[in-house]
Amino acid sequence: MPADHPYPELQRAISGWSYQPDPALLRGRTILVTGAGDGIGSCAARTFAWYGANLILLGRTHAKLERVFDWISANTATDPVIVPCDLEAADRAAFDQLFEQTIDHYGKLDGLLHNAGLLGPRVPLAHYDSDSWRRLMQVHVNAAFDLSAALMPALEAATDAPVLFTSSTVGRQGRAYWGAYAVSKFAVEGLAQVMADETSKSSIRVATINPGATRTAMRAAAYPGEDPGTLATPEQRMAAYLYFMGPEGKTLPSPTRLDARDFDPDAAGAGSSQPAGSSG
Ligand code: NAP
Repeated sequence: MPADHPYPELQRAISGWSYQPDPALLRGRTILVTGAGDGIGSCAARTFAWYGANLILLGRTHAKLERVFDWISANTATDPVIVPCDLEAADRAAFDQLFEQTIDHYGKLDGLLHNAGLLGPRVPLAHYDSDSWRRLMQVHVNAAFDLSAALMPALEAATDAPVLFTSSTVGRQGRAYWGAYAVSKFAVEGLAQVMADETSKSSIRVATINPGATRTAMRAAAYPGEDPGTLATPEQRMAAYLYFMGPEGKTLPSPTRLDARDFDPDAAGAGSSQPAGSSG
């Protein structure tokens, strides 16, 4: 890392990691991140670019994507593109078009992070409205399925193609009042398992990741009384994301359940470390 670091939050985070990534870890990779405009997705996009990847920034709010694009352009020598896309409205045809555009521009795709998410109501099932239920299922499950399926030919053609799905503590152990958020994350775990089994003989490798309680707008909405200063920053969560996206991730079984809290590369080969926590 250069001394005059333009990304001090990441530099501070790295100093606390046991995993020290090669500065050229992701050089030349093309990685698509959904929900790249804010929170963990914005941080992952900037971090992947910092380590050399060309980023396809998919998200809903154009102005937020532009800010991430501008940061990457100003601070790295990579080639990002913006893909404005509301995952509630997008269908397979839109993702087929994205596949064509990706191949036209980069000639390949060798990384996919399904990160976009929304919280939904925090109420008992009997009070959970059907529209919210369907929205969460659409964004977390249906869109992730359609996007993965449309991009599969590009991923299969890559030398190494990590596909990372974002899960949650409540997607691995159900909890009251988490409704479609929890159930959709269970479905994401299932989607990852099916994909991993189907692609076990290909270049595609699959994992789910639980970021754990992380300082973002979603977390603040879920726990309004909590002091955000007590939470890890998205940058502090990036060790596990980088490890999986880079060549070292090939040592992990597919699928792997990752936990971004206290990520230990020496233990990562065992599949996951999953300390108890209160995060969504
Ligand atoms: P966040 O700050 O609310 O960011 C979510 C991102 O997803 C935003 O960029 C948002 O776009 C995008 N998004 C939402 N709906 C979308 C749609 N219909 N189409 C396209 N993009 C959409 O949340 P976060 O905390 O970073 O969460 C990121 C992931 O981590 C989620 O999958 C979440 O479930 C998971 N997670 C988070 C925590 C935590 O403590 N933060 C814990 C466990 C799991 P806009 O910017 O346009 O709103």
